[in-house]
Amino acid sequence: MFYSTNNPKSKTSFSEAVLQGIAPDGGLFMPYSFPVLSKEFFASVHRLSFREMSFEVARTFLGGAISDPDLEKIVDEALEMDAPLVKVSPSVYALELFHGPTLAFKDFGARFLARTMAYLTRNSEREITVLVATSGDTGSAVAQGFYGVPGVKVCLLYPSGKVSHIQEQQLTTLGGNITTLEVEGTFDDCQRMVKEAFADRELASKKQLTSANSINIARLLPQMFYYFYAYSQLEDRQRPLVFSVPSGNFGNLTAGLFAWKMGLPVKRFIAATNRNDVVPEYLKEGRYRARPSESTISNAMDVGAPSNFARMVALFNNELAAFRAIISGYSFTDEETRACIRDVYDRQGYVLDPHGAVAFAGLRSYMEENRELNGVFLETAHPAKFRDTVEEILQMEIPVPGPLAICLDKPKKSIRIKSGLEELKEVLLASGENA
Ligand SMILES: *Cc1c(COP(=O)(O)O)cnc(C)c1O
Repeated sequence: MFYSTNNPKSKTSFSEAVLQGIAPDGGLFMPYSFPVLSKEFFASVHRLSFREMSFEVARTFLGGAISDPDLEKIVDEALEMDAPLVKVSPSVYALELFHGPTLAFKDFGARFLARTMAYLTRNSEREITVLVATSGDTGSAVAQGFYGVPGVKVCLLYPSGKVSHIQEQQLTTLGGNITTLEVEGTFDDCQRMVKEAFADRELASKKQLTSANSINIARLLPQMFYYFYAYSQLEDRQRPLVFSVPSGNFGNLTAGLFAWKMGLPVKRFIAATNRNDVVPEYLKEGRYRARPSESTISNAMDVGAPSNFARMVALFNNELAAFRAIISGYSFTDEETRACIRDVYDRQGYVLDPHGAVAFAGLRSYMEENRELNGVFLETAHPAKFRDTVEEILQMEIPVPGPLAICLDKPKKSIRIKSGLEELKEVLLASGENA
């Protein structure tokens, strides 16, 4: 059972929490308790595959909300990619989360959410339509995550001319059950159209619309898996373990805290941010000040009011001391991030992307004062995703990996529409006829 962070007494099942996404009172869903994994599990992790381990974690967390065979299938299909732990220096490892179809960690959440939603609605008569406004990366992870999943259609809206070429190719070349609308307007227009569509009665009576936003509990759950998998891949599991997490909305870090609550032996989490340092500032000064975001080179973390802060507050009963006992905060300017990318390449020959670099810098700062650790930083995107920035910093060419290169060559398939609810409705209602 889950409660809303706005009402600790509310009770919602896993299925409802996933299908609603956000609680009706605007809160985020949180589990009432965290079942702890057994000693035997931790003693045998190094013998389990990524999928076997993840199934065990999911099954323990869900306590029967999805039957074992169905859950095993969802996990197997969601985790088609690896999450290797790569040694960068004697006690520092990169947990590479960019081996999925869109080359970023959001693939884990999107793929798991897609299959879970399809499973939860398998007996419903109407096909579900996932409606998403995107300014780039989330949309492509969602599109790829839902691509080919039976019983689900996806309709993506993106602002024409306002996403990068690579992002546009990722959004518009899938086809199949993915429809992409290129909107003559801004990202805010796209978001408004989606909001209005959810509130529209005619659509509600004809379509089962849902969202796949980042605060969905089914996106957090699979992000726990790779923390356990990182632990299992360590050479020396006796040494204290520290995770550094490059953070924006703090979903990834919250998932790490969930894993810790389920018994994963973690000494500390590093909340590493760019200039958008609301959480490091809170840890330092004890004052939480949300504010408009600033643009940086690690732009997937340009968040001024992190949505998962509400979950962390709930987890720690709003006690600053409890936060500080397990999380340390560090923030870095773009200049420091650039210097870090250069330095790590010069010394270790490892190419960081700007987000991973922020995490690396946070870990390095922490480890200057704390030795004899296993330091793991989450490398959340492939450097080729931020190719222009990384090439400029390192003055060399970054090769584009297979999945990205393939989509760059495919023809763009999108429907161009004017901004406005009527335009969107026309597409949505027309697509129902050949469903
Ligand atoms: C979304 C994203 C982040 C931030 O993750 P949160 O869960 O929002 O904190 C970090 N790096 C990359 C590459 C991302 O796409």
